[in-house]
Amino acid sequence: MKKALQIKVVGVVQGVGFRPFVYRLAETLSLTGWVFNSSEGVKIYLEGSEENLLFFLEKLKKEAPPLSQIYHLEIQEVPYEGLEDFKILKSEEKGKIELDILPDLGICKDCLLELFQRENRRYRYPFITCVNCGPRFSILEKIPYERENTTMKFFKLCPSCKEEYENPLNRRFHAEPIACPVCGPYLELYASSGEKLASSEKALELSQKYLKEGKILAVKGLTGFHLVARADDPQVIEILRSRKRRSKKPFAVMFREITQLENYVELTDEDKKLLLSPQAPILLLPDKGLLPANLNEGLNTLGVFLPYTPLHHLLLKDLSFPLIATSGNFSDEPIVFENEEALSKLSQIADYLLLHNRPIKRGLDDSVIKRSGTFYIFIRRARGYTPLPIFLKLSTKKVILAVGAQERNTFSLAFKNKIISSHHLGDIEDVISLSHFERCVYDFLKLYGIWPEIIVSDLHPRYETTRWALEFSQKEGIPLIQLQHHLAHIYSVLAEKGEIPEEEVLGVSWDGTGYGLDKTIWGGEFFLIRGLHFERIFTLRPFSLIGGEKALKDTRRIALSLLFEIFGEEALSLDLPFLKTLRESEVLMFYQAWKRKINSPSTTSIGRLFDGFSALLGICYYNTYSGEAPMRLEKLYQPNFKEAYPFSIKEGFYIDWEEVIRGVLRDFSNPSACATKFINGLARIILEIAKLSGVRKVVLSGGVFMNGPLMFKTLSLLKEEGFETLRNELFPPNDGGISLGQAFYGVLKLNFDAPVS
Ligand code: ZN
Ligand code: ZN
Ligand code: FE
Repeated sequence: MKKALQIKVVGVVQGVGFRPFVYRLAETLSLTGWVFNSSEGVKIYLEGSEENLLFFLEKLKKEAPPLSQIYHLEIQEVPYEGLEDFKILKSEEKGKIELDILPDLGICKDCLLELFQRENRRYRYPFITCVNCGPRFSILEKIPYERENTTMKFFKLCPSCKEEYENPLNRRFHAEPIACPVCGPYLELYASSGEKLASSEKALELSQKYLKEGKILAVKGLTGFHLVARADDPQVIEILRSRKRRSKKPFAVMFREITQLENYVELTDEDKKLLLSPQAPILLLPDKGLLPANLNEGLNTLGVFLPYTPLHHLLLKDLSFPLIATSGNFSDEPIVFENEEALSKLSQIADYLLLHNRPIKRGLDDSVIKRSGTFYIFIRRARGYTPLPIFLKLSTKKVILAVGAQERNTFSLAFKNKIISSHHLGDIEDVISLSHFERCVYDFLKLYGIWPEIIVSDLHPRYETTRWALEFSQKEGIPLIQLQHHLAHIYSVLAEKGEIPEEEVLGVSWDGTGYGLDKTIWGGEFFLIRGLHFERIFTLRPFSLIGGEKALKDTRRIALSLLFEIFGEEALSLDLPFLKTLRESEVLMFYQAWKRKINSPSTTSIGRLFDGFSALLGICYYNTYSGEAPMRLEKLYQPNFKEAYPFSIKEGFYIDWEEVIRGVLRDFSNPSACATKFINGLARIILEIAKLSGVRKVVLSGGVFMNGPLMFKTLSLLKEEGFETLRNELFPPNDGGISLGQAFYGVLKLNFDAPVS
């Protein structure tokens, strides 16, 4: 008895080899029918025996191509037609495209194999790719994802490539970016003077020669430029630092292969999987300390990754040393991705530039993930992950644009039942970065063919993004919602789960700085949250930031502020090393400023407490990059040491740190014990408050939770006591996740609140 089924597959099913997979599966099960891409997903019609149809459905889910993601299957029994064979039909082009855009992917195993096969026609071809790998989002000009809509439209397929492209049984069937040495892009090497030196194989050969000599190269990769240099030479590192204007911030290192990498960092099997995945992120792992200290000064982690494009593989293949590969830009500027800009800008940093003529439509930085114990914390979400959506269990009738915060900015778009977040855009703090932000917003709007009907921003009146949102809402006549920063952090976690938060949760939102509802600087907040309702139930005992903004860099000002709070003027006579690094007149001046509250705003920030703490211990007196002091403290943490400093609750509202500071003054000679007891103490106070709060779900977010030991300790304590814990798993707990939280809050508000007008 033969039957017929119609199946609709919704999800990430375009550009991943889904139709050929369906074709092969149908053939092996002797089923007839057809498959094609429609606007709503892949549609399949199948005929055959009931048994084989069931087999098909089972295998469709189990054996789907590795990059595909099936969100939803619709199966319907339909009249039997009696077709003779199985066909892949031409795509349906009408209607709105609702398929998701795939992120850029690292080279797959099959292509890597072919890359080094002498007899292959793509032997050593730096742009080898197939349906399972290569550029996607970064070359897309508009949807649907088809070759004419990507920057590959400039390259006409040669007959051999065309044959592969049109053969359903080939791995390159409808693989949009495919090319070969005959028809595709090629390499060119330039000197920083702009003189063209070589192309193709010769360009590669010379590049390797220059790298061996310790030269700095700008290399055009998958989604932007890297600055590349040998990672084993402290002098080369120093030159790169001074030219890039990046004094201490650690550099990431690319290794030829896992077996080389294993010598340099401590690797788990999970780490290997992640490093070898198509996302190929930079992983921060425990450093064995074999590379020069000025690569990651004062830290015990090293950012490592593996070659993820054929070009990287070719470049590293014959080199005995690993390479620094850091974003091609001057510190804090957007990543360079166009040849002209590279030639004008990166030529000031690099000695040589290795370019190619496959245009990149938008630049994305590498994604960065940190491992702490057995779990992973996103630090930066970009290449390989953007623009995969977060799916919600509720939907929004209006398009919501959430503009994020200021540091590590991203923006997000909520529409239908999903939120799509932009890649990491860096700090938005001047005209240049703001106009970059604006360009990216318009780029996304155009790509998805949508326009904001509601806009959500931070509350901070001086954030560039807040001002921009205000202006946009006035110009477009659409409502603006402002959400307090630390609440946005908590909502970012709830957004990841996509659920309607019906149960009351305890939100622990700890970060560097955020604008509070009382107009002071918050950063050590405990909220009870249910749906749209919240109550701030605890915060850190406030202290002053002497000199305002200056105290964000100069950690000694915070250490002094903490001491003044406890000892008043007597703090001046304490015998502490950090005091000796300041002139007596300076210390007096700080005291006066503190006492009279001159340019010394009050804060409840745990991030700043970390800063002050590390100055007290003499670990870090100056943050040359965001998070330096707390990162240096992490190095001192001893996982097996159980003692903790006692944070206490005062006036039923404040978490007091006074006993902690007094403890440090006693244990001062053992900084490692101090740091460990500090972090353990913070974890314990979270547990204590969780118990007091009467809820069973605890949500952790905010930049402070990039601190591995703190996150790990807090999670284990809470779990031991039976609490359910939620944290950011797909997005960073830092301000990179703010826009996601804002967007989700907007969706909740639309669904559950009085109409936003
Ligand atoms: Zn491939
Ligand atoms: Zn070709
Ligand atoms: Fe924050």
